[in-house]
Amino acid sequence: MIVVRRADEIEKMRAANRIVGDALRNIEQYIRPGVTTLELNSIIEDFILSAGAVPSFKGYGGFPAASCISVDEVVVHGIPSLRVLKEGEIVSIDVGTVFRGYNGDGARTFAVGSISPEKQRLIDVTRESFFEGLKYIKAGRRLGDYSHAVQAYVESHGFSVVRAMVGHGIGRAMHEDPEVPNYGRAGSGPMLRAGNCLALEPMVNMGGFSVIIDSHDGWTCRAADGNPSAHYENTVVVTDTGAEILTL
Ligand code: MG
Repeated sequence: MIVVRRADEIEKMRAANRIVGDALRNIEQYIRPGVTTLELNSIIEDFILSAGAVPSFKGYGGFPAASCISVDEVVVHGIPSLRVLKEGEIVSIDVGTVFRGYNGDGARTFAVGSISPEKQRLIDVTRESFFEGLKYIKAGRRLGDYSHAVQAYVESHGFSVVRAMVGHGIGRAMHEDPEVPNYGRAGSGPMLRAGNCLALEPMVNMGGFSVIIDSHDGWTCRAADGNPSAHYENTVVVTDTGAEILTL
């Protein structure tokens, strides 16, 4: 059962997620060769705190930072560090907030300087796959319609959808039911209702879909074959006519 949020709760979801969207828009100007992922994380943390929100990732399951910053073959959950970004890399930044008791969550993949056409295509297809799936997010539809649309779009472009990590319901907790896979069968899964809040987040690998979790830090999730990976995430609320994106 997916929680149906009241109008006043959705208004609070809008506020928490607006801060996420603003933080992601703000960070883009700082992404360039020579910057460390820790510097980017500090800017994001300051931004969230200045907005009166709390960075929800910090301390979540022991995660040490306000944002997840994942370079090239790192799919998600990269830990900000003294790692210096280099020309030609791609960097995925995932941000979460809590504001007045409600959660925001969103992610983007950015280019560091000039990147290869193939990496640009990976970023573009990942973002586009979100919007392909979004066409099927609407009251009365089944969640599998979204999952199937994302997978079909990604695979038609020769890339693969990560299976081990999925999107999620979101609200008073960052992770609520249901799980939202970016692959699956049309017509399967729970039926959507107006007021459901979901974090939809395609994670797309240039190579195979398998991933490995770093055994030393327990967080960093990498493409097993070492090929680049991209991430695009927005929190949305289901409506009778479609969906409202809260993190743009
Ligand atoms: Mg998420």
